[in-house]
Amino acid sequence: MLTPGNKKLGGRRIWGFSLPSGRPEICTGMSAQCHEHCYARQMERLRPAVLARYEKNLQLSQLSDFEQRVRYFILNHEIAVVRLHVGGEFYSPVYARKWLRIMRRLPDVRFFVYSRAWRDDHIRAALERMTQLPNCCLWYSCDKGTGVPGSVTPRVRLAWLMTDANDRPAGGRQPHLPHPAPAPTVPNTCRWRSCLSRRGWLAEGLPHHLRLLRSMLATSARGALANSPATARAIIALPGELHSDQSIHDSP
Ligand code: SF4
Repeated sequence: MLTPGNKKLGGRRIWGFSLPSGRPEICTGMSAQCHEHCYARQMERLRPAVLARYEKNLQLSQLSDFEQRVRYFILNHEIAVVRLHVGGEFYSPVYARKWLRIMRRLPDVRFFVYSRAWRDDHIRAALERMTQLPNCCLWYSCDKGTGVPGSVTPRVRLAWLMTDANDRPAGGRQPHLPHPAPAPTVPNTCRWRSCLSRRGWLAEGLPHHLRLLRSMLATSARGALANSPATARAIIALPGELHSDQSIHDSP
C-alpha cells in the first residue's frame, strides 16, 4: 500500500501512495505536456514491480474499507508524512473524498499533494476542502497545456511544469515570490529528456535527476513538517515537473 522513502529522502518518515500513471481514466487533468514528461510513467515502464504495486493500490482504493485500511496502516507504521500520488491522480470525486476523510481523521500526520485534478470541478471541490486542513499542503500542478487556474483559494499553491527555459505561464499569472527568493539549489530547467536521449541514461541522466529529486523532496519534506510558507515559496520557485518527478520510493 504505502511505501517508505529511501534513506536520503526522509527514510521511514515519509511514505508515498501512488496509482498507475498516464491513463486518462486515472490521471484527471492530464495534459500532453505532463504525459510526455511524466517521471512516474517512465519509472513504471522500467520497473514492472512498481506498476504492479500501483495497480494493486488502484484496486484497494475502490474497496469500501479503503479509508480504514489506510488509517490503520499509517498508525501501525507510525508514519509522520504522506506524499500522495507520486504517480496517478485523484481519479474521481468519491476517491478524493476518501482521502479528505483520512486527512481529517489523522490530524497529526502531514499530507502533501501535487494535483492536476483541479481541472475537474467536482474533484476540485474536495481538493479545496483538503487545503483548509492544517495538516495538508496542496499544490495545483500546471503547465502549458493546463494553463493556470483563474482563481485559487489562499492556501492553494501553484507548481509549473517548465519544459524549457522559456516555458512560462501566459498572461502574467506566473507563480511568483512575494519575498526575495532563496538561492536556487537545483538547475533551472528539467533536462530529463535530453539526459535520456543525449547524455545517456545511466551515465548522466539518472544521477542528475536523482540529485534534482533529492533536493526537491528534502525541501518539500521540510516545508511539510514545518508548515513553512517560506519553504513553500521556494518549492514554487523550483522549476521542472513538481508533481510526478518527486519519487520518494522509486529512487535507488
Ligand atoms: S504528471 Fe501526473 S497527471 Fe500527468 S501523467 Fe504523470 S501522474 Fe498522470
